[in-house]
Amino acid sequence: AKNSGRNAYRLYTPKMNVEYDEHLRLEVHLRRAVEKRELQLYYQPRVDTKSGQIKGMEALLRWIHPEMGFISPAKFIPIAEETGLIVTIGEWVIREACEQNRRWIDCGFPPLRVSVNVSGLQFQQANFVELVRSILEETGLDPCYLELEITENSMINDVEDNIATLMRLREMGVYISIDDFGTGYSSFSYLKRFPIHALKIDQSFVRDVATDKNNAAIVKAIVQLAHHMNVSLVAEGVEDEATFRFLQAERCDEVQGYFFSRPLPAEEFERMLAAGE
Ligand code: C2E
Ligand code: CA
Ligand code: CA
Ligand code: CA
Repeated sequence: AKNSGRNAYRLYTPKMNVEYDEHLRLEVHLRRAVEKRELQLYYQPRVDTKSGQIKGMEALLRWIHPEMGFISPAKFIPIAEETGLIVTIGEWVIREACEQNRRWIDCGFPPLRVSVNVSGLQFQQANFVELVRSILEETGLDPCYLELEITENSMINDVEDNIATLMRLREMGVYISIDDFGTGYSSFSYLKRFPIHALKIDQSFVRDVATDKNNAAIVKAIVQLAHHMNVSLVAEGVEDEATFRFLQAERCDEVQGYFFSRPLPAEEFERMLAAGE
């Protein structure tokens, strides 16, 4: 009994040690990645459900490390958030997405809206609105071609401040959407006060919507909610035709997913735009 009792105090297991080491190692590399420009943006089209035309694209961060190779955002975004690096990285993301979008408009492609993921910490920065304003000025992108995707969870603290920030962005002409809708601590009383343009329903509800009765019920309810609130509804994670047909029948406004295209590097996205003209 004496012996087994010893292990009860071992809160720190060798496995945790390995995870901690990997975490630290990634953190060091991530700092360098920002300086060495190892981060890239990929773009995934958002498609108008009715016309089938590309309405915009979501910019998604990619980290391609020279030795470690491709590192998933699911792995490095949480580290970037914990360390605060997400503020610097997030600023780069907005600037890069706006510059790229401006270039495409200058090339003569029909103007599209680029949407960018904004993490809670970044959104809470006191100068966030001014940062967005100055990036739009520097890049010369019309604010109506930028959309910010923010999760419900990043907005539940300091709700009044957050609403004020959203109002200022909206007055500037920037679009705002709630990302991963349905997975966070959403409260309808807040939701109706958020000055937003779109809800993005999380892919966990979209998946198997054509066969899963519960998901179908949830998606139908959220489409109704969005339309009654006068905001558009975007479904992400659309992987097959059956899912697309279901969303079309339910009058979901926009769809995004592998069924249409995977996220693509800027050059490939541009080729797709050129081919579609
Ligand atoms: P998210 O914002 O919900 O982005 C959608 C994720 O779904 C992306 O994963 C996208 O590649 C993936 N996806 C798109 N279509 C499909 C599909 O049909 N099926 C499946 N299974 N997946 C699909 P990704 O690119 O790995 O990004 C993961 C998350 O990392 C994002 O989720 C977002 O929360 C975060 N993230 C990515 N880029 C940024 C960024 O620039 N800033 C911040 N703060 N977070 C970012
Ligand atoms: Ca997103
Ligand atoms: Ca999402
Ligand atoms: Ca997500």
